[in-house]
Amino acid sequence: MPSLVCSVQNCVYNNAMYCSRGDIKVGGSEAETCQETCCDSFQERKAESMKSSVGTPSQEIGVVCEACHCGYNEDCKCTAGQIDIAGAAACRCGETECATFTKE
Ligand code: SF4
Repeated sequence: MPSLVCSVQNCVYNNAMYCSRGDIKVGGSEAETCQETCCDSFQERKAESMKSSVGTPSQEIGVVCEACHCGYNEDCKCTAGQIDIAGAAACRCGETECATFTKE
């Protein structure tokens, strides 16, 4: 399981740069660059849930990943030691990305 740092603070699961969802899915089956990947599990934080966090943040997280051109992808599982999900101003999945994607 990779440890994950996430800068998508506009996501309801983000808690102090960690994810509290338990597992995430990274999309981008055709991706050749980081920008073509995305965190499919992103859920926009609405104004009313601004203060409440969902679940308990954890450093390590299960990652199912569709980005099969990434060198860390083995049978749709991420084998990287640590990944960074980026997208500080994201309002939708497409504005997030796995910044650790490395083309094999
Ligand atoms: S590092 Fe590669 S395999 Fe791991 S989540 Fe990112 S794109 Fe997927």
